Amino acid sequence: RLQQRIHGTTLEINLNALTHNYNFYKKLLSPKTKVMVMVKALAYGGGAVEIANQIQTMGADYLGVAFSDEGVALRKQGIKLPIMVLNAMQESFGLCSEFNLEPVVFSPEYFESLASWSIIHHTTMKIHLDMDTGMHRLGFEKKQIEVLKSLIKANPQLEVASIYTHFVGADEEIHREFSLTQMKNFIVMKEEVLSMLSYRPLIHALNSAGISTFPQFQFDMVRLGIGLYGVEVTGKFEQALRTIGTLKTTISQVKELEPGETIGYSRKGVLATGGKIATLALGYADGYDRRFSNGKGYVLIHGKQAPIIGNVCMDMCMVDVSGMDVKAGDEAIVYGEKISLKELAERIGTIPYELLTNISTRVKRVYY
Ligand code: PLP
Repeated sequence: RLQQRIHGTTLEINLNALTHNYNFYKKLLSPKTKVMVMVKALAYGGGAVEIANQIQTMGADYLGVAFSDEGVALRKQGIKLPIMVLNAMQESFGLCSEFNLEPVVFSPEYFESLASWSIIHHTTMKIHLDMDTGMHRLGFEKKQIEVLKSLIKANPQLEVASIYTHFVGADEEIHREFSLTQMKNFIVMKEEVLSMLSYRPLIHALNSAGISTFPQFQFDMVRLGIGLYGVEVTGKFEQALRTIGTLKTTISQVKELEPGETIGYSRKGVLATGGKIATLALGYADGYDRRFSNGKGYVLIHGKQAPIIGNVCMDMCMVDVSGMDVKAGDEAIVYGEKISLKELAERIGTIPYELLTNISTRVKRVYY
């Protein structure tokens, strides 16, 4: 509460809710399935170190980050779990080695580059192989499997810790057939690699939506992201998950306006019949999307919806509180329980992931 008094906006993270969601997924999965928790992008905005700490205590098996510096930050705070790095820049191979981070290898060129680096530095490394089964983002293609096999054979200093692929649309029924084809191709590709290895790396494919939709493809491990943070993108287990983050802000001023007076930059907001507005200590610099301007977004004040009126400013925005009993210092809930992030995201043509990860670092995270 003091943090909120100082900065105006805080993101409260409920670690009990996180535990609840983690346990929910553990129960859903086969007892022998390992869990990699995706803590990239500050653990979807929740705070990577705090979430990783909690998840480590709860017995998760792996962590996933996007870039090496995200992994380094976790190591510097004492996180001991193995960490996979989705997109480790070649300039960060040294950091990967020093901080025991395991890069994803996704192309023959990248493999060769890491292999040369490890030979020059007389070091062994664990690597993860990304198979491109349709995402066409990163990853080995089917036609590159033979090259991959010879690279693995020639470089025993690089130990294949896992082989994985990623769904393009496990949350969307219209892509069901495509997802199944991805799995079919993945099984062929990973079997090809497994056939020439004398050891058994972990096999994984499922993200949160995948866990909900295709539990038959658990293999050895799943990669859990948004579901852990309380958003169930398929809708299937929505009721079972708890909201972990509550974004709260504060009313700085309340004003009565005459009919026709305009509100904010470019005079975009108008109260045709007059009314009352409240100015909130929250703007786009806090990660509150400017597309929420003028009725697209709303906040909850004393449990009632107050729509955004006028353009969202850098550090503030205004809401229509006509007919509501509100005063400066009152709290407004921006994201949280009773607010569907999926519905809010749809209002501005985006996805809950973007709303969560956009909450800027100047918003203090408070854990309870
Ligand atoms: N695996 C990979 C390769 C990813 O890029 C992501 C996130 O984008 C995830 C797993 C986790 O996905 P989700 O948050 O949908 O569970």
